[in-house]
Amino acid sequence: MSNNKWLSNEEDKGILIVLSGPSGVGKGTVCTALRSRARELVYSVSATTRAPREGEVDGLNYFFKTREQFLAMIEQDELLEWAEYVGNYYGTPKEFVKQTLDGGKDVILEIEVQGALKVRDQFPEGIFIFLLPPSLDELENRIVNRGTESDETIRQRMEAALYEINLLEHYDYAIVNDQVEAACNRIEAILLAEHCKRDRFLPKIKKWIEEVSE
Ligand code: 5GP
Repeated sequence: MSNNKWLSNEEDKGILIVLSGPSGVGKGTVCTALRSRARELVYSVSATTRAPREGEVDGLNYFFKTREQFLAMIEQDELLEWAEYVGNYYGTPKEFVKQTLDGGKDVILEIEVQGALKVRDQFPEGIFIFLLPPSLDELENRIVNRGTESDETIRQRMEAALYEINLLEHYDYAIVNDQVEAACNRIEAILLAEHCKRDRFLPKIKKWIEEVSE
């Protein structure tokens, strides 16, 4: 991230970023853009029972699982969180997230709100960002124009969207996704500020003062 010696301390843990927002708001596009811009940011690949959409690759977009395989992952405590969303299961593989954070790298989870709230209980120090559409009409247009969903699924996703937007109060930041690049700029600005939080420096500074006072 930087060659600043305070920021490159090897003992530092990475920051967990949780990005939520209603279906169709463009979370996937924003995440892809962020991944190509902020190369040190690691994307957590979720497991899901949803069928792959055209062009989606197993292990890259999702780990596509059968219902039985997914239930076995829950049973074996392999998931940091999981949720049922519009008839399918989605969950975050736990070990990968923990190891990456321990290795000092920032991890981004792109997950819906129920899962995000469960992550908040386990990682209160995480950064919770909610992506908003410029308007609800625009959101519906985006879901319809994606052309991958049936009328019934569109209706269910709009219903889920209203429910999700209503939970904004549980998030730290709100970003309007009017333009992907602008949304990425704002998320990168948040990350930069979070890396400069006083609490990330205090233990190091205290150690440093102890060393020179000895
Ligand atoms: P989609 O089917 O459009 O890819 O995703 C549907 C919703 O599931 C999106 O809101 C997406 O953010 C969410 N989602 C994707 N992966 C996970 C996950 O691992 N856990 C949870 N709780 N939600 C997820």
